[in-house]
Amino acid sequence: MLITALDEMQRWSDTARSASKIIGIVPTMGYLHDGHRSLIETAARECDAVVTTIFVNPLQFGAGEDYERYPRNLERDVAIARDAGTTVIFAPSRQAMYPDGYTTTIDVGPIAQRFEGTHRPGHFRGVATVVAKLFNLIKPHVAYFGQKDYQQTLVIARLISDLNFDITLRVLPTVRESDGLAMSSRNVYLSPTERADATVLYRALQAALEAIARGERERLHVEAHMRSVIESVPTAQIDYVAAARAETLDQPDVFVPGEKIVLLLAVRIGSTRLIDNALTTIPYDSSST
Ligand code: AMP
Repeated sequence: MLITALDEMQRWSDTARSASKIIGIVPTMGYLHDGHRSLIETAARECDAVVTTIFVNPLQFGAGEDYERYPRNLERDVAIARDAGTTVIFAPSRQAMYPDGYTTTIDVGPIAQRFEGTHRPGHFRGVATVVAKLFNLIKPHVAYFGQKDYQQTLVIARLISDLNFDITLRVLPTVRESDGLAMSSRNVYLSPTERADATVLYRALQAALEAIARGERERLHVEAHMRSVIESVPTAQIDYVAAARAETLDQPDVFVPGEKIVLLLAVRIGSTRLIDNALTTIPYDSSST
């Protein structure tokens, strides 16, 4: 079922809740790919009803970013989401979500201010605001997000906790192309040569993971491994390369064994900005650093 009106969405959710249905939400900006599909399929397995939202949220795009040219194809998205097992596709209009006079935004604080937050000021304010609105409209029990946008999952966890949303957050692994490139709606911007170059993000993450597995614990060394792989590709421009504690995004000089860390990358391939990440745990049996 396709719903575009906000009041209809709220009525549908009220009915589902009064029938004791467990509602899962999968928020997306559309142009669905297999990463979205895995979220929808998992939600369909775990919940009684799934609402996939499709909304290119203007509030999370900065001036000069790709809001206007972001790929859109609602008909195709409806077919994919249905096939993946969604119950409802909620695709509201910009005007309905942000009518004239709209002013309220949500600022989640420090976790949103580094990395993506530094390079895309206001981005997470836009994300937190639209997700809170979707939570209020859909009243889900479980929310599904991808690890692909790792920092976003921390922002959503903070939002849910701080604003007392009675919602369980489920974060699912990044779905990749066979050569390692993380699936993204933005991959359609890449020319064939850029598409080949774009595997550099995955290769950089692998190089750093291998160094950590070999015993590297110094943050700057881990970051240097990623940097040198990326710098070997002339079309690649680094926005940031970081190793950080997975839960807080703190960046100690040296990681300690047993610590869960995240490797974070934002790289421009030509004019296309791509992000990727990997999680790992610092091993105990390091023979060298
Ligand atoms: P987007 O439409 O890009 O805003 O993404 C909507 C949701 O899908 C977010 O929770 C993303 O993290 C998730 N997602 C995007 N790409 C992938 C991927 N390659 N693997 C898993 N989840 C993804």
